[in-house]
Amino acid sequence: MTQISRRKFSTLAGSLAGGLLVSGMPLAMGRTRAVQEGKKLGVALVGLGSYSTYQLAPALQQTEHCHLAGIVTGTPAKAEKWMREYGIGREHVYSYESFDKIASDDAIDIVYVVLPNSMHAEFSIRAAEAGKHVICEKPMALSVAECDAIIAACKKAGVKLGIGYRLHSEPYTREVKRLVREKTFGEVRFVSADAAYISRGNPDQWRLNRALSGGGALMNMGVYAIQSCIYGSGKNPVSVSAQEFSTRPGYFKQTDETITAQFTFPGGAVGQMMTSHNASANRLFASCDQGWFELQPANNYGPLSGRSSEGPISFPHESQQKLQMDDFARHILEGTPNRAPGEMGRRDMVIVEAIYKSIREGGRTVPIELPEGYGFGG
Ligand code: NAD
Repeated sequence: MTQISRRKFSTLAGSLAGGLLVSGMPLAMGRTRAVQEGKKLGVALVGLGSYSTYQLAPALQQTEHCHLAGIVTGTPAKAEKWMREYGIGREHVYSYESFDKIASDDAIDIVYVVLPNSMHAEFSIRAAEAGKHVICEKPMALSVAECDAIIAACKKAGVKLGIGYRLHSEPYTREVKRLVREKTFGEVRFVSADAAYISRGNPDQWRLNRALSGGGALMNMGVYAIQSCIYGSGKNPVSVSAQEFSTRPGYFKQTDETITAQFTFPGGAVGQMMTSHNASANRLFASCDQGWFELQPANNYGPLSGRSSEGPISFPHESQQKLQMDDFARHILEGTPNRAPGEMGRRDMVIVEAIYKSIREGGRTVPIELPEGYGFGG
């Protein structure tokens, strides 16, 4: 086993066994040595920017089912620092050019793509083709077409795909989903979500560059507001009407500054969202037949805070990224539900494209065609 690559082993084993079940799971691509031996899965972070540095790497020191095993970076000085800090061997360090060699690195089970949005599709697909499970940061990609390509590549390679939607693993969001699912306050009639912060940084940063980001506030914080409207109502929207506001065009030269949107949901509920790079907001509110609930803050790294018409909603705080990566590792190891599957990222991009279309068409109501429950994670 150590003499041949995991990919070759999987293919060989797959053809020999012809679908043989091991531990209740089919022998297939994506069953790395660590998976078979029940060990902690090795994660390679691709892109060592602020999210990897200050959130994901520290969280990977706390995870129970996975650990930091490799890095992919374009900056040799960062590689040296990370190797020292986290005890990563040089043989598990890759550049963007040498990345594909990761295919024969048995220590790496999961590739986590933490790059500017325009690079998500390329590196998620290359990771799948290397036979690695993939976590792709939000927003999943620049278009629905790119999301389709990522999902197809993961399917073809037989690897799991998760989106970096950390909130689906943390208790406040899970409680909101429970309240909606169990109709604790009856039917949701109205949901409102805001996700926004004020951007005053370097005007040359990639988030303000359309080619690299694919859009502004909507592609950044906007996906959280879309998500809140969906899990706050328990349904995918069937239509959207949207508006864009610009007050600092000299700074936001290429990307949207503030967007508002109104949704309709099957069964008659309505919703609204606001996202901005020029205001601060972080809230989810839902009004139901027999009460209401609210999270504020609703989407930062926590601690989150909540209340309802019945009283406070309160849970102990844990690293959301730790919970998220452990959930994904358990999905691979034990077959537990995928909290944020690729289809969820794709669904959100369908809605992002509908919002931009509505804005281009002067706020016209644009239909959204998504199957009921499509993209809902476990
Ligand atoms: P960042 O700017 O801090 O880091 C980006 C990294 O990509 C850097 O290491 C940079 O060197 C590298 N890079 C490679 N090619 C580049 C290029 N052409 N231009 C610019 N940088 C390049 O960004 P970040 O905040 O770490 O965000 C990375 C991804 O993670 C984004 O997709 C973002 O949406 C996502 N993110 C998610 C969360 C979350 O809560 N899930 C939070 C922050 C960021």
